[in-house]
Amino acid sequence: MKRIALGILAIVAVLAAVVVTRALSLDSLQPGPETPVTLQVDRSGLAARFSQALTYPTISHQDRSDVDHEAFFGLHAHFAASYPLVHEQLALEKVNDLSLLYTWAGSNPALAPVLLMGHQDVVPVIPGTEADWVHPPFAGTIENDVIWGRGALDDKSSVVTILEAVELLLAADFQPIRTVYLAFGHDEEVGGPEGAGRIAELFDERGVGPFALVLDEGGAIADGLVPGVDGKVAIVGIAEKGFISLELKVEGAGGHSSTPPAHTNIGVLAAAIQRLENNPFPVRLGGASLEMFRYLAPEMPFMPRAFLANLWLFKPVLARLLLADPPSAAMVRTTTAATIFHGGVKDNVLPINATAVVNFRILPGETTASVAARVAEIIDDERVQIRDVSTSHNPSAISTPDGPGFDLIGKTLRQVKGDDIMLAPYLVVGGTDAKYYSGKSPAVFRFLPIEIGADGMQLVHGTNERVDLDSLADAVRFMHQFIRNTNDLPE
Ligand SMILES: [Zn+2]
Repeated sequence: MKRIALGILAIVAVLAAVVVTRALSLDSLQPGPETPVTLQVDRSGLAARFSQALTYPTISHQDRSDVDHEAFFGLHAHFAASYPLVHEQLALEKVNDLSLLYTWAGSNPALAPVLLMGHQDVVPVIPGTEADWVHPPFAGTIENDVIWGRGALDDKSSVVTILEAVELLLAADFQPIRTVYLAFGHDEEVGGPEGAGRIAELFDERGVGPFALVLDEGGAIADGLVPGVDGKVAIVGIAEKGFISLELKVEGAGGHSSTPPAHTNIGVLAAAIQRLENNPFPVRLGGASLEMFRYLAPEMPFMPRAFLANLWLFKPVLARLLLADPPSAAMVRTTTAATIFHGGVKDNVLPINATAVVNFRILPGETTASVAARVAEIIDDERVQIRDVSTSHNPSAISTPDGPGFDLIGKTLRQVKGDDIMLAPYLVVGGTDAKYYSGKSPAVFRFLPIEIGADGMQLVHGTNERVDLDSLADAVRFMHQFIRNTNDLPE
């Protein structure tokens, strides 16, 4: 007995020694200190131009015939009037009428180009919530250095800060070495096929690419969002999940509700959805999700650092912790969300058909095909017809944070926002237009340095979307310095 106890004690001691040694030997992956770069930004001019951009209701609707083209044309005219040097010196093409593609020719056309992205369209205001807005969603109200309106965060902030930065650089006679493309889609919120998707095709047709670097929306500066890390963390998307919506349909005889079968079509469909919810996709903690912990672990106090430095031992525990909360759970599995359910027309008539739509966000490593196959396997009921009703796409490739593109983001951030800010790669659980460049650049990153606090995430697509002018001005400084820094990218 005693010998066994001693043996166990010895094993525990060795494990503890390994855990502590690994925790102590973690090196920081954060970028080194930088000399601050200052840039004077005309804050009131920026506020006015941004506020006006928010007044055009460039809303994406599921039904494209509902899109207000005049709103987009108004926004385009506003850009032309506000950024005269951009419109004089860069070539502008309108793609499918509403998307904007600017070309800023570099001094060395032999080098791989750089692509800066954003989208002009916004999501609708949910009917019935208009009165909950403190300021109307399309008024562009400025109050106490906060600018209110739909699109303030997602994603007119990207488009305007890029245009502001390029205008400033042109005024200072800056010449990029690499050709810089600015691509502003018009249908990101409905998948982006006619905007970013078409632009990506145009590049292919013209033999443009691969790109040295692609920067799109999808990351931000999180303040107090990462447990165990004090201070601000710039979370930079290095990959994004895939997307598929499957329609489930049950068709069959209707009839009178006085003589029903044991299960109506609604019951059959409900059971299918319940099986999907009861059999979630497997948990996998790896790739882009693990990269975040690799970057943040060295910055944490000893206990969480020891935990994260020893994922060979604690990975299942970490996965379980992440699963506890829907936002973090989305990082470790393909998610299942039943979003639409239709069936029946009258209380005394059996439904002839019932349909539902289930939306899946696909973890890197799986595909739209593997998801559809697993869904059929779990439902396992031939009465339920399954078909893809979405502009589905596979998860993106993962861009490495161990390269010059990611380093450039870190360097620029420290030049503009100081050395205290931390950097962490992460997996974007939503979707962005950057998916169209998966595999077309080793460095596709999703980030805009807007500061988002604990409540900020709800503002994206939510009520009372707004942005601080300070944050917006910093984003202009970031874009300005980022474009300058692309001249230092290695060939
Ligand atoms: Zn967006």
